[in-house]
Amino acid sequence: ICDGCSITQNTLFYELGISNFPFNAKGPSPLLLHASSSSSSFLCLQFSRQIHPMAAIARLLKPSSPSSSISSFLKRSVSTTTAVASEIESQHHQRPNLSDPKGSRNFQWVFLGCPGVGKGTYASRLSTLLGVPHIATGDLVRAELSSSGPLSRQLAEIVNQGKLVSDEIIFNLLSKRLEAGEAKGESGFILDGFPRTIRQAEILDEVTEIDLVVNLKLREDVLVEKCLGRRICSQCGKGFNVASINAKAENGRPGMSMAPLLPPSHCASKLITRADDTEEVVKARLHVYQETSKPVEDFYRDQGKLMEFDLPGGIPESWPKLLEALNLDDHEDERSAVA
Ligand code: ADP
Repeated sequence: ICDGCSITQNTLFYELGISNFPFNAKGPSPLLLHASSSSSSFLCLQFSRQIHPMAAIARLLKPSSPSSSISSFLKRSVSTTTAVASEIESQHHQRPNLSDPKGSRNFQWVFLGCPGVGKGTYASRLSTLLGVPHIATGDLVRAELSSSGPLSRQLAEIVNQGKLVSDEIIFNLLSKRLEAGEAKGESGFILDGFPRTIRQAEILDEVTEIDLVVNLKLREDVLVEKCLGRRICSQCGKGFNVASINAKAENGRPGMSMAPLLPPSHCASKLITRADDTEEVVKARLHVYQETSKPVEDFYRDQGKLMEFDLPGGIPESWPKLLEALNLDDHEDERSAVA
């Protein structure tokens, strides 16, 4: 019996990542019962056809062997973890639980932060630096939107109002992405835009161990300006920002300047703006973040995994400081390769 909706189904209980798919007499069950080994509660995910994707998440998020391209970072990851831990301890008097199990697998990090804060920018740079995939659920949603798939219209309506897509759809898209990555030999990840609800965080927590959660922060007026200045090259997919930000110091907050990140000439005529980057929708997204995603920060803060990072400005000011906070600042070669 599901604790959430009380639905009962005669099916085998399926413990994520451990047993096989549940089957009833008619074949694959449309009801996935998520049995938590640590408690007696059961959560009905009612995924219908999404049993396989969910199972893929469980399987793919399990620790895997490091690939040779990132092996040099594995040793480093242990010391990084320690350094990050002491950094956070000195700031928040709390030691994060980052102890293991990095000796046997790659980085598993999460980037949190309000819309427009720069999760994609910094997660993507770190992904290049660390040799782990950058997986942004917003990108997965946009890819689905631009396809002519059955979900596309339904998604457009939700996204263009600044609302969150259902957890089920997100798990479905995420698991497909992980499956494709697994086929290419990927391991580890930097997740961007996921988890965004407590339920997503809890399910992720059930299937794998997150090592570090970076919470990027920026003042709200700057966030809105940044979103409105965002542009994407429709050909190469690279992101730019045409806003020149000069926010005044006020109410004890320091002033902040950010130079625009302008496109090269071959992208300049192909720039597009995200349909959800209008002032009205950005404000709606910020509201949704405060209501629904902010508690995810607390979820990881309570686990001692949250590293708060106040962005001091644009990329030139923030990137070196972020590397410093992550104790990755002595990787000069990689830094210049990414910059
Ligand atoms: P933002 O700039 O607001 O951080 P994203 O690019 O991460 O935007 O996401 C764009 C939209 O995709 C969100 O407004 C939401 O509708 C949907 N989305 C992305 N990730 C999730 C998620 N984890 N859960 C629910 N909806 C999501």
